[in-house]
Amino acid sequence: MDIKFIKREELQEKPDQKKLGFGKYFADYMFTMDYDEGIGWHDATIRPYGPIEMNPATVVLHYAQETFEGLKAYRRADGQIQLFRPEMNARRMINSNERLCMATIPEDMFIEAVNALVKAEEDWVPSEPETSLYIRPFAFACESSLGVHKSKAYKFVIILSPVGAYYAEGLAPVKIMVEDEYVRAVQGGTGFTKCGGNYAGSIIGQVKAEKYGCSQVLWLDGRERKYVEEVGAMNIMFKIDGEIYTAPIEGTVLPGVTRDSIIHILRDWGYKVNETHLSVDDLMQAGRDGRLEEVYGTGTAAVISPVGALVYKGEEITINNFQIGELTQKLYDYLTGIQWGKVEDKYGWTR
Ligand code: PMP
Repeated sequence: MDIKFIKREELQEKPDQKKLGFGKYFADYMFTMDYDEGIGWHDATIRPYGPIEMNPATVVLHYAQETFEGLKAYRRADGQIQLFRPEMNARRMINSNERLCMATIPEDMFIEAVNALVKAEEDWVPSEPETSLYIRPFAFACESSLGVHKSKAYKFVIILSPVGAYYAEGLAPVKIMVEDEYVRAVQGGTGFTKCGGNYAGSIIGQVKAEKYGCSQVLWLDGRERKYVEEVGAMNIMFKIDGEIYTAPIEGTVLPGVTRDSIIHILRDWGYKVNETHLSVDDLMQAGRDGRLEEVYGTGTAAVISPVGALVYKGEEITINNFQIGELTQKLYDYLTGIQWGKVEDKYGWTR
């Protein structure tokens, strides 16, 4: 792929690495590429980060034909920069785009674009402990026309944002609300994709959870509201009687890269991992009986997020006395160790 480079006049001052937060600062450059039916992808360009001008009739603004991804570049102790399983993000974006009838970005093109932009912006990969450069590729329909139809034109963009340590004071357990009114996804819908619409429809659960003093929502299946699926932006795993339970990837749950990696590691460590439909009633009962040993979310942003309590229909159950579980901590240390190049990557996941 031929990538054009448009230089910017002045570079920004880099933010304080100790105060990065999440998604607040953006690197100097972005990657853009256009698609037109009959031509294909063209005009791959690394250009100054800045606004994208749009016709008010642009399809994405009305019918939300949009998909995105999220991955990180990590700075290792030796100064080199590595990515974690970027091909999984490339493949997931192909699946998302196919479901939304959007032009797909071939895996090699996606990786090449990510590599080129991160290489151009390597100074933006922070070096403070547990910081990283968040990479946000996204694509949207950009034909201008108000009829509901499959767009003939798309734009693929990648932006970069240096992000801080997710847990500045060590892993902190969170309280999660089980949502029994609204649903996130149904069989045959778009739950397995990373499309903006999934998130637009789920913000209401997040707002409700916060009202109840919880930081996130645990979604139940869309048909019976009986089985646990996933959290707002994380997959979720439960340790019950020594075994791990997590929802299967059957169309409604996002196939997380972290989820897949953790399952590999757990099975290697000799744990039985059940990718199965776990009912919220069985989960709460295990909590009441003291058999629910650990709960944690998995996702690129926090990697592993310990859950200290679950609230369902007004009942609150505490997990492990609101302390981080031993396995949760061990998984966090091991996987982040691989990502920041501190632990040998025996799986060959880093690039
Ligand atoms: N589920 C949802 C709904 C998400 O938005 C995310 C974040 N991408 C995840 C799960 C975790 O996926 P990953 O491990 O690939 O970040």
